[in-house]
Amino acid sequence: MIRPWRSLCALIVGSLLLIGCKTENTTQTGVVGVHREQRMAISSATMVSAANKQYAQLMADAEKNGKLNADANQTARVKAIADKLIPQSMVFRPDAPSWKWEVNVITSPEVNAWCMPGGKIAVYTGLIEKLKLTDDELAAVMGHEVSHALREHSRERASEQAVANVGISVVAAVVGVGSLGQKGMEYAYQGLLGLPNSRTHEIEADRMGVELAARAGYDPKAAVSLWKKMGEIGGKEPPKFMSTHPPRGERMQDLTEYSEKVLPLYQQAKRR
Ligand SMILES: [Zn+2]
Repeated sequence: MIRPWRSLCALIVGSLLLIGCKTENTTQTGVVGVHREQRMAISSATMVSAANKQYAQLMADAEKNGKLNADANQTARVKAIADKLIPQSMVFRPDAPSWKWEVNVITSPEVNAWCMPGGKIAVYTGLIEKLKLTDDELAAVMGHEVSHALREHSRERASEQAVANVGISVVAAVVGVGSLGQKGMEYAYQGLLGLPNSRTHEIEADRMGVELAARAGYDPKAAVSLWKKMGEIGGKEPPKFMSTHPPRGERMQDLTEYSEKVLPLYQQAKRR
């Protein structure tokens, strides 16, 4: 027998959860004009805490295997680009330049790069070597990845996951309001890596990425040549980067349009 108070209870819990899930816009719009209300159920602090732990673990493993910053020249090159990009994050988030940024190069054949919440960056040697990236192209990848972090896309993804899962439990009326707190960390880990970015997230990171690169003095049009190179090495085993950053038809056109839009910022930066 279904007791009526149970469905009432589910309704109350459901509405409490909705209240707990607030919308916000994590970044300022910049010249590229990225603006969208994001639904968040997990806190930034939870995401950053999960990211710090996971990053420290990955870097410790790499170090143990002699794969952390093994090539001094390559490491210096990546860090120099990060040093130019990071201060530019201020245009989107005044708090970002003072994040605890970390930049490391991992020796691996994987064509991959990412930036975890709170500014924890990793660039794989496979990306730099297999694609023979120029500094401008490397800045394009890193600007794109940093933009995912500024915009807190993985927090948004973790929140979606949490709401979806809790939603099911709410219907079953077995979940209390407090339970997201304990599960929050779990969702945070799930949102960190490995899941494909949505079309919306990719477009936002593309647009913000070209602005960051341009402001840092890197040719924003390199984003277009980067994605061309990325597409050409597809082959039998598409790179990891392509599975988490699915390329889509309209993307090249959007990148071309937005890299042209930020060209004056690049020219200004070059004059300085
Ligand atoms: Zn992306």
